[in-house]
Amino acid sequence: MLKAGGTIGILGGGQLGRMMAMSAAQLGFRCIIFAPERDSVAAQVCNDFFCNKWDDAAALSAFAQQCEIITWEFENVPVLPLKQIEDRLAPHPRALETAQDRLSEKRFVEDLGGTPAAYVKIDTPSELMSAVDRIGAPGILKTRREGYDGKGQWRIGSSRDADALKVPDVPCIYEGFVEFTAEFSVILVRAQDGEVRFWDSAENVHEGGILATSTLPASQAVAAQVGEARKLAAAIAERLGYVGVLTCEFFATHEGPIFNEMAPRVHNSGHWTIEGAVTSQFENHIRAITGLPLGDTATIAPKITMKNLIGKDAKEAFELLSGADTHVHLYGKKQARDGRKMGHVTQILRSGDTAE
Ligand code: AMP
Repeated sequence: MLKAGGTIGILGGGQLGRMMAMSAAQLGFRCIIFAPERDSVAAQVCNDFFCNKWDDAAALSAFAQQCEIITWEFENVPVLPLKQIEDRLAPHPRALETAQDRLSEKRFVEDLGGTPAAYVKIDTPSELMSAVDRIGAPGILKTRREGYDGKGQWRIGSSRDADALKVPDVPCIYEGFVEFTAEFSVILVRAQDGEVRFWDSAENVHEGGILATSTLPASQAVAAQVGEARKLAAAIAERLGYVGVLTCEFFATHEGPIFNEMAPRVHNSGHWTIEGAVTSQFENHIRAITGLPLGDTATIAPKITMKNLIGKDAKEAFELLSGADTHVHLYGKKQARDGRKMGHVTQILRSGDTAE
């Protein structure tokens, strides 16, 4: 168990690290960020910042010497350099290895009895046409690595689209388009002793591949599939020997839950837990990796909405504060570029409140 005043290292410098560090500070821990980008919104709220490349072994070792436990907030941290600090890492980096490659992730989940969208692996650009012939269109071409928020993805409506597309010369997969009724995520926390707790599943709406809103309670279509999805998420966590918060995203369909992808970390669709659950995803992640007892994950109100503030949306953020039980989070980013997550706003509707 990490003692109060102990130091946690966080790999990655974005808003997830920032919110994690704020929860760690509440419990009396110090945080240090390691990230290659100079502008780090996590470092703004931390005790120290190593701004170095991922493969800078000397810097990583100096960073690790100052930390009792190291975790990550960014799932594309290269795994190889982490070997030298593996004894201090939580969760275990095998979770990163599995999730960083869409193909290994899908195979891993199938092996556990889960169902991903139909897919074909594409090693060279010329294989796209036969992949479209095999599973049909519409579909989505995705790079196997490094995609997020809809980046590294191309929608393909027909074979003609596939023919016209300049396919990137990197390993990809082609996925059949899932006709879903709704999207949802299962967020769990697993403790060092294997205890697992789940938060309620929010219903997620994406716009242009980016999460726009998460709402609770989810519709009946989602509620009916959460049980099966949770079983798979718990099996994933167990197989990985996972410690901390793990997120699995699903499509609710007429054929049951289709696994979309996992994020071996706290997740945007769990931001509502800061005010909307007894214990937030950030606090429970810190509790799990430091060996503290897990907190209650229960939802505290009958209706909760979380809306991302993307790009210029953030300009009006403070005007939202006049709403009842409304909580604005801004991430401290300087430039409000299109598609950039600048903050989020959570509204809690307790019983007796009327929805606006
Ligand atoms: P991803 O980065 O793979 O999670 O994709 C971002 C979003 O694109 C998802 O949350 C869905 O809204 C949409 N999407 C991705 N893959 C598919 C698919 N195979 N079928 C339908 N929608 C998809």
